[in-house]
Amino acid sequence: MIDNRFKEMNDNKYDVLIVGGGVVGTALLYTLSKYTDIRNICLIEKYSDFGLVNTASTKNSQTLHFGDIETNYSFEKAKSVKRMADMVMKYLENGKPASVEAKLFSKYSKMVLAVGKNQVDELSKRFLTFSQLFPNLRVIKRDEIGKIEPRVVEGRDPDQEILALVTEDGYTVDFKRLCHSFVDNAKKENPDISIQLNTKLLKIAKEEDHYSIKTDKGEIQASAVVIASGGHSLMIAKSLGYGKNLSVLSMAGSFYTAPKVLNGKVYTIQIAKLPFAAIHGDPEVHNEKITRFGPTAKPIFQLERHNMSTFLEYWKTFGLGLSPVISLLKIVFDKILFGYIIKNFLYDLPFIGKRMFIKQIRSIVPGIKMNELKFAKGIGGTRPQIINNTIRKLEMGEAKLTGDKIIFNITPSPGASTCLGNAYSDTSMIMEFLDNKFKFKKEAFENDLM
Ligand SMILES: Cc1cc2nc3c(=O)[nH]c(=O)nc-3n(C[C@H](O)[C@H](O)[C@H](O)COP(=O)(O)OP(=O)(O)OC[C@H]3O[C@@H](n4cnc5c(N)ncnc54)[C@H](O)[C@@H]3O)c2cc1C
Repeated sequence: MIDNRFKEMNDNKYDVLIVGGGVVGTALLYTLSKYTDIRNICLIEKYSDFGLVNTASTKNSQTLHFGDIETNYSFEKAKSVKRMADMVMKYLENGKPASVEAKLFSKYSKMVLAVGKNQVDELSKRFLTFSQLFPNLRVIKRDEIGKIEPRVVEGRDPDQEILALVTEDGYTVDFKRLCHSFVDNAKKENPDISIQLNTKLLKIAKEEDHYSIKTDKGEIQASAVVIASGGHSLMIAKSLGYGKNLSVLSMAGSFYTAPKVLNGKVYTIQIAKLPFAAIHGDPEVHNEKITRFGPTAKPIFQLERHNMSTFLEYWKTFGLGLSPVISLLKIVFDKILFGYIIKNFLYDLPFIGKRMFIKQIRSIVPGIKMNELKFAKGIGGTRPQIINNTIRKLEMGEAKLTGDKIIFNITPSPGASTCLGNAYSDTSMIMEFLDNKFKFKKEAFENDLM
């Protein structure tokens, strides 16, 4: 059962406060509880449960990203993501779910598919470098692709060149259940942690030696604070004067589903410039009889998908004035991104969307029929991509702002895959924030998870 009690007002003073009960906040709660001697910790979450926003399995692609099949990652980016995804993989493999309902992940094969001579050449070249980092990755040709994924080959022009990099390490994760697992395990280590659901941070102010946090349930004080509130983290950072040169481009992702046409994950090649994962098809985490295709990527003016009440919060985060608008126009009117965004807008439209999107899917499953494909209504979250207004560019991946005893995590994809790596670095910083009065048992963390 979730501990939903509230402490008395004058009792509400903590060494560490975490704001946000998604996978990033709960991974930190777990790390602090298990691997440090800090006992006086609080986590607040505005909704009634953990992982209801981007962390929900209906909101993201459920993939543990390592960097092996993400062709938009540089070698350095893949190296860093792999280190952190390995931690989640170890956590998943070490744990034994108490019941089927608590099962955190499924494992399938995972491949990235090159279609046509240019892509085949590009992927073959990529393999030479990336196989050093991913020794389990193999190059496979048409015959073997067809054995693993018959529908990738069926109906394909026999003259069309195809090639794939495949691995057995295709982890499909229910990140919301992972949140629950982190919280349950944190509570086992430290029954005194205070978890306050249905509690929203309204305002935060820095006092001399602590932060005062006004919530809709009363006031909390904390010596160190970690804001793990997705896109809202930047809004809260700005309220304290941090991240003024940053804005958010909220990139919503939608999905289409079909009755099982793939056995595992099949990714397409991504344009190197884009910070979003390429369109792919894969089985639902808890139902391999459904194949999900997506995600698309279109900008919306909300911090949370399907939640209009975050419209104003989006603009607060985006920032008023000319500078973010100039950055946005420069980014959106980029030759590559402009065409990409227009196409992705159309994918979400009734009638025409499905007819356009099916062309993308047919590069994976050539024989898929219109009546097999269905728009997944209400599915898909939004990725808070960071716009850097100083250089007027879109940043790749997650962003972290560090202030005076406070951290803000802003987490587009692959933020769920890197949650424990993020928790590791936040924990190290928290030790410094608290004047090294506490100890981070790094060796134990590294032994368990690295
Ligand atoms: C379409 C799509 C596909 C994706 N696919 C993948 C993938 O395959 N693999 C992967 O690793 N990542 C993927 N991601 C990214 C991943 O979902 C996120 O990086 C991750 O869920 C972020 O976790 P979080 O805890 O930071 O944010 P969230 O899950 O959004 O949690 C933030 C929490 O903060 C709470 N909060 C906000 N404001 C307040 C406040 N004022 N007071 C209290 N609480 C507050 C919210 O209610 C929420 O619960 C995808 C994202 C999208 C949108």
